[in-house]
Amino acid sequence: MSKTNSFIEKMKKNLLARKVELQAILTGSNQIVNDTQVKDSGDEALTASMDNLQSSLTHTEVEELNEINSALSRIEHNEYGLCIDCGETIAEKRLEHSPFSARCIVCQEELEQHQP
Ligand SMILES: [Zn+2]
Repeated sequence: MSKTNSFIEKMKKNLLARKVELQAILTGSNQIVNDTQVKDSGDEALTASMDNLQSSLTHTEVEELNEINSALSRIEHNEYGLCIDCGETIAEKRLEHSPFSARCIVCQEELEQHQP
């Protein structure tokens, strides 16, 4: 472990707090979606509301929640703060700015350069 426990603890607290926020946002919008669906059509309605959820304004929240969940799982596995590509330590400043960063700046920039 290259990071101090207190730093990890702090980031974990931040992530959990943000997760609660996001879940509240998503639960709220989910209810709005559900209210506009015919509830009796079962799986179809669920799929439809998931599609709506994915394509609506909450898309970024869903993505962020996924990122937070994977960051929390990296904390559980003592892998948090290490780049998933090169294994180098991610700068604490970077983690404070975006707590769910999975890559160091070098790898992140490389990834972005290779995106279409
Ligand atoms: Zn890296």
